[in-house]
Amino acid sequence: MGQNGDIWVWIETARDGAARETGLELLGAGRALADQKAADLVGIVIGNSTEKAVRAAGLYGADRVFVVEGPEYAVYTTDAYVCALYALARKYEPAVILAGATRAGRDLAPRLACRLKTGLTADCTGVEYDGESGLVRWTRPALGGNLLAAILCPECRPQMGTVRGGVFQKAAPAPFPRAVVIREDIHVPSQRIRTEVLQFMERKMDAVRELMAARVIVAGGRGAAGPGGFEMIRELAELLGGVVGASRGAVEAGLAPRECQVGQTGITVSPDLYIACGISGAVQHLTGIARAGTVIAVNRDPKAPVFQAADYGIVGDVEEILPELTARLRSAKYTKK
Ligand SMILES: Cc1cc2nc3c(=O)[nH]c(=O)nc-3n(C[C@H](O)[C@H](O)[C@H](O)COP(=O)(O)OP(=O)(O)OC[C@H]3O[C@@H](n4cnc5c(N)ncnc54)[C@H](O)[C@@H]3O)c2cc1C
Repeated sequence: MGQNGDIWVWIETARDGAARETGLELLGAGRALADQKAADLVGIVIGNSTEKAVRAAGLYGADRVFVVEGPEYAVYTTDAYVCALYALARKYEPAVILAGATRAGRDLAPRLACRLKTGLTADCTGVEYDGESGLVRWTRPALGGNLLAAILCPECRPQMGTVRGGVFQKAAPAPFPRAVVIREDIHVPSQRIRTEVLQFMERKMDAVRELMAARVIVAGGRGAAGPGGFEMIRELAELLGGVVGASRGAVEAGLAPRECQVGQTGITVSPDLYIACGISGAVQHLTGIARAGTVIAVNRDPKAPVFQAADYGIVGDVEEILPELTARLRSAKYTKK
């Protein structure tokens, strides 16, 4: 495979047919790849009611959108979606396929890669061309997050990767979307779909979405375990019009819910301001804030690694610094409108 240079992005859809954010963010990354090789950026939309997602794909940069529609795609199932994408990929032979490292993306991409007999770099935090080989260079945390590995796929095609949400920013919507929509009639017989969705149980995704979109995050670690630690963090976040994040240490200590965890096994965030309170700065945490704007760290240990990643550091006790900071901000009338 690989005669065609197109860059494909799977635009995952929600149950109401709208495009999920991760796919739209990936169109931004795909656009950069496509422009460098003068290739087309193609959005892939699979679902039962695809109109909203198709429109969004065009709005956020796709040159073409392949649409596969049918009742068998109303909810995500591995069998149906892999069959549809496999059929498309065999027919059009893209150079690159990007998918979000979402639950569905992490399920779909390896299965598809296996069928296409190609490789997959999962859970990437960076995607760009390698200057020397001209191949896509996928960057992902390796060895428990202690280093960032650069991975190339020199022989098999397409080059495939999943990318975490929040790693790329969504592009500005195109003023005059001009995507060509191509509908493909691909159907999967029900006997080939081995799973059936019986019930949906809502997770607290609002908190996750809020954290991913937040411009200001005040995050606490195990060092904020003292009396009122997270209460102070919440107060400061509220004052700044931001939301609360947490390290895994804080989540494991029961100080914050799992949905708030930032980092390699949590959420990748990209706020303008990130205030880390009582967080040591383990590489697995820092991976999640690599795209933050200004980072301020509060830690009583001047040697804490978080200070290496911070733009501003305050050495001191969370219990003393946070009330002081909050009081000063309040008196400066720096309050959320
Ligand atoms: C595969 C893998 C994936 C991981 N994924 C993640 C992830 O997604 N996110 C994540 O965060 N971690 C992750 N971790 C865990 C990570 O390695 C660290 O263990 C974790 O980030 C530590 O959390 P912490 O900084 O809150 O706690 P600690 O390491 O215990 O640090 C607490 C810090 O608070 C300071 N402190 C203590 N008391 C106070 C006080 N009163 N005032 C001010 N400072 C104080 C201390 O000096 C210290 O620096 C992962 C680990 C592995 C192996």
